[in-house]
Amino acid sequence: MSEAWVGPVTGPDCVQGGVCEDITSLRKRFYQLYIAVEQSPAATAITDVKGRIEFVNQRFLDVTGYSREELIGQTPAMIQSGETSDAVYRDLWQTLQAGRVWQGELLNRRKNGELYWEAEVITPVRNDAGEVVNFVAVKEDVTERKRQESELKLLATAFATGQATLITDAHMQIERANQAFTDITGYREHEVLGKTPRLFKSGRHSADFYARLWDDLLNNGHWQGEIWNRNKYGDIYPLWQSITAVRDDSGQIRNFVAVFHNIAERKRMEDELERQATLDHLTGTYNRRAFDTALRQAIFQAERGDESFSLLLFDIDHFKEVNDRHGHDTGDAILKQLADRVSSSLRSTDVLSRWGGEEFTILLPDTRLRGASTFAERLRCQIAESRLQGLTITISTGITEYRPGDDMDSMLARADEALYRAKSAGRNRVVVDDTTRVEE
Ligand code: GH3
Ligand code: MG
Ligand code: MG
Repeated sequence: MSEAWVGPVTGPDCVQGGVCEDITSLRKRFYQLYIAVEQSPAATAITDVKGRIEFVNQRFLDVTGYSREELIGQTPAMIQSGETSDAVYRDLWQTLQAGRVWQGELLNRRKNGELYWEAEVITPVRNDAGEVVNFVAVKEDVTERKRQESELKLLATAFATGQATLITDAHMQIERANQAFTDITGYREHEVLGKTPRLFKSGRHSADFYARLWDDLLNNGHWQGEIWNRNKYGDIYPLWQSITAVRDDSGQIRNFVAVFHNIAERKRMEDELERQATLDHLTGTYNRRAFDTALRQAIFQAERGDESFSLLLFDIDHFKEVNDRHGHDTGDAILKQLADRVSSSLRSTDVLSRWGGEEFTILLPDTRLRGASTFAERLRCQIAESRLQGLTITISTGITEYRPGDDMDSMLARADEALYRAKSAGRNRVVVDDTTRVEE
């Protein structure tokens, strides 16, 4: 503020007398007002009727980045950004010229090029004759408020349109839920407000599971994982859920935010892929890998003394010849038909696999050697009597039963040995691993 603008509070012409004292007190009052405006936290500018700047306070300088020398005599066009529409300025001038107060928001530009939003009140000031002689603009920088508003708008849009989201207070009482939440759970927001997520418990998880979840959530502020919940209609489904504890500045938990999506379809596909990976593509029986797993498991159970089981290994007789005579495709069709026939004679707990080429294994749980022999013999007859692709096909089978101390290799070696004997003995027969031929 220049001295010239205000003048000294006291001066040589005010040393004594009533008039002088009046002038002094007037100046004093004026100076008080000047200080109030100068130090006001609201950026303030006074222009003449043409809009030329006559006064700006300190806050105005701070906000715009210009010096007083740069601003005085200029018009507020100096700080216009060019981003506010002409209609706004038209309205502004029309209002002011009509002698009325204008209020609005303008996007301005600081000296350093930065844009900022200002909420302004511009008031026309009249002289004693009622003529407008000045305009006083009082502005508030609302950039931060605007930023927060648009951020809130963005968050509100994300909440409304994004993944299923549930917000609870610190006591787990539900405060907000969005549309995607309703789509998955069937519950409308108003149906769950004030309730806790215990409402969705499926009963599928142990107390331990929830204890670990809470441990993670409270210690690390976050938990994510697979969780099974129950929807409004009682269906249980898997979710991938991420829960975050939201703390305030003092570190107190204010909210929990849970975001989740339904992974039932993904799990179904995973299960299907898993199933596919265990199957033989040509015959649809289990493949060797799946059989290994089943055999390992059967041995594990037998070791615990639960039950004994038998293993069959069978191989098509003279299959090379079949291929040579009738072609590989016919050979393939026979493999498939054979597998179907065998499958249809099995119990649901029996496991048939294509061990490789035209060799198959069958695991017969809870079956002793005698039962296995009877079954194998019945199978042998059934195959020999049917025609596959119009041809008579026979199989040779080796059988063994689990013995304490067995592992996969020892069992397979015995079954293979028995199969070899069946072949040597003329094929189309069943041999058990004690080399006793059961029947021809
Ligand atoms: P045997 O078992 O009676 O001693 O005689 P084999 O002619 O069947 O001899 P082996 O079991 O050693 O021969 C296997 C033949 O099976 C070789 C091949 O021609 C045929 N084979 C193996 N895998 C397939 C397959 O996926 N498709 C077809 N079409 N043939 C196969
Ligand atoms: Mg063969
Ligand atoms: Mg073979």
